[in-house]
Amino acid sequence: MARVYNFSAGPSVLPESVLAKAAAEMLDYEGSGQSVMEMSHRSKVYQGIIDECEALLREVMNIPDNYKVLFLQGGASSQFAMVPMNLMTGSGKADYVLTGQWATKAQKEAARYGEANIVASSKDKTFSYIPKLDPSTFTKDADYFHICMNNTIYGTVYHELPDTGDVPLVADISSCILSEPIDVSKFGMLYAGAQKNMAPAGLTIVIIREDLIGNAMDITPTMFNYQIHAENGSMFNTPPCYTIYMAKLVLEWVKNEIGGLEKMYARNKAKADLLYNFLDNSKMFKGTVVPEDRSLMNVPFVTGNEELDAKFVKEATAAGFVNLKGHRSVGGMRASIYNAMPIEGVEKLVAFMKEFEANNG
Ligand SMILES: *Cc1c(COP(=O)(O)O)cnc(C)c1O
Repeated sequence: MARVYNFSAGPSVLPESVLAKAAAEMLDYEGSGQSVMEMSHRSKVYQGIIDECEALLREVMNIPDNYKVLFLQGGASSQFAMVPMNLMTGSGKADYVLTGQWATKAQKEAARYGEANIVASSKDKTFSYIPKLDPSTFTKDADYFHICMNNTIYGTVYHELPDTGDVPLVADISSCILSEPIDVSKFGMLYAGAQKNMAPAGLTIVIIREDLIGNAMDITPTMFNYQIHAENGSMFNTPPCYTIYMAKLVLEWVKNEIGGLEKMYARNKAKADLLYNFLDNSKMFKGTVVPEDRSLMNVPFVTGNEELDAKFVKEATAAGFVNLKGHRSVGGMRASIYNAMPIEGVEKLVAFMKEFEANNG
């Protein structure tokens, strides 16, 4: 059976070797006589899996010891509420930068629990850039400052972090986690839905500085309290066992087959450069993002003609390049080229685009 090149924004492509390993271990995980799907989360063998997953994440991302790693559920979307419920408890204020739909949803949710100030927005130009930030406009006594690091729908990324001084920086890294090295110590908290770059859907990763845990609002549901999950090793209730196992396999792939995040970054940069160089030189296709804020993970582009866009998506799909239709708010196309997209996938896509341009130009 031929596998397609899957450019889906999420859930998205996983490394083939990871899928093969999961398949090989499906009926009998390491001599346990069971699938990981079937085993008790309280068993010794499962404890080994979750411990190894955390240890690998800590090693690969170089997470300092004073940060907790939590394996949660509810998606990045639940974090839009959990962040304010747990952190907006000093001054009751927080700053938000609106760089797309996810950032906007996060701000709207936070506004239900306190003062969620909008310090900047790029809505005026369909979120095609990251706004320039002026620290003198930041709320001095904010409980945290929230950004969406990589904007999955619009294809922008922060290349420089805002200088928030002592105010903890909180970032949604759903669509860029593990794509390049990041200095965790610059953040109070990071969170990510796993289904973009890490695992199948169902797992949410939270990396939080220990001093930010333990001050949740009284109204916070038990399941929304970081302290509860931290105190129970992410096993207050049944964790998403199989997805955590898949994340472990992906982390082993990043560490052993790729060679860590520096190497991952070089690979991702090479892939993105291929596509952006083509877009910059094409007479038919154009990237929609200002060059200085371009994402390495999500690459939106258009022809400027909706019929031609639709024709391209249709012919690309038939040729085995799937899920290239852009988000309805941007239109056109979007190629999500996450960690697991092989370089050949991007090379072949570019060759296909060249041919389409020659035939339709
Ligand atoms: C996909 C995505 C979300 C939503 O994630 P869910 O896990 O579906 O809640 C939030 N933020 C960003 C940046 C995303 O890419």
